[in-house]
Amino acid sequence: MTHTTTETTVDLSRLPRRARTESLKLNKRLRRLVGQAIQDYRMIEHGDRVMVCLSGGKDSYTMLDILLQLRDKAPVDFEIHAVNLDQKQPGFPEHILPEYLADLDIPYTIIEQDTYSVVKRVIPEGKTMCSLCSRLRRGALYTFAAEHGYTRIALGHHKDDIVATFFLNLFFGGRLAAMPPKLRSDDGRNMVIRPLAYCRERDIASYAEERAFPIIPCTLCGSQDNLQRQQVRRMIADWERSDPSRIEHIFTSLCNVQPSQLADRVLFDFANLGGRNAPDHDWLMPGTASTAE
Ligand code: SF4
Repeated sequence: MTHTTTETTVDLSRLPRRARTESLKLNKRLRRLVGQAIQDYRMIEHGDRVMVCLSGGKDSYTMLDILLQLRDKAPVDFEIHAVNLDQKQPGFPEHILPEYLADLDIPYTIIEQDTYSVVKRVIPEGKTMCSLCSRLRRGALYTFAAEHGYTRIALGHHKDDIVATFFLNLFFGGRLAAMPPKLRSDDGRNMVIRPLAYCRERDIASYAEERAFPIIPCTLCGSQDNLQRQQVRRMIADWERSDPSRIEHIFTSLCNVQPSQLADRVLFDFANLGGRNAPDHDWLMPGTASTAE
């Protein structure tokens, strides 16, 4: 039996029966979760031109693969255009993505921009380069999307990324913030979507392995995640071993925020909770008393 999708063909008949069932279940689960996220956040609508950002990692390959499957069945018409930014890291295998995308027979663009040299020039030797590198990558992709009229930019971040970002901001950034499934970019020009927002990294890893995507590592530049990100990754990996449902609980919490139970005075009007005739509290703040002797 051959399980055919728009973009890749996996010969399931070679797998033992149980593995075949698991494989079909995994594919179905990912499709369901991506479809659910798209629906919940109205990520893609009729007529959208979706620019799918492909890095060559397991996440973006999986995102493209699942989006192509969903597009074929979707009741709405939308366009998919794959884009890779070749950042000119030494040793980057330039042929892999064009060959993969040509096989899929879908429109794609490889943008060439030497952000690697910029990062090397600006970041001192031995320091992590990922933050600037990602910023430059984002800038190049957002500019391309705006100039070419793409109405959505699809990024391959998943549930584990969202939870990890939440803890990075919580522990080291002094704010409660994660990575939203849908976001208007700061300059207002682009709408960013994360169709894998409901998917677990372990499922994506299994899927990528099964599909034998031609993975390009993101470590060619020799840079490492910074220490804070490594700490958070370790913490989440430990939880994963001891309490696999914890990530699910945390993500559910991110979808169920109660501003009145936190302490953000901008998000919730605590000051006026007492009613219209609330007394003047200037006297509580030394140096700001409204009456002087
Ligand atoms: S590992 Fe290298 S290519 Fe990947 S984000 Fe970091 S600096 Fe950029």
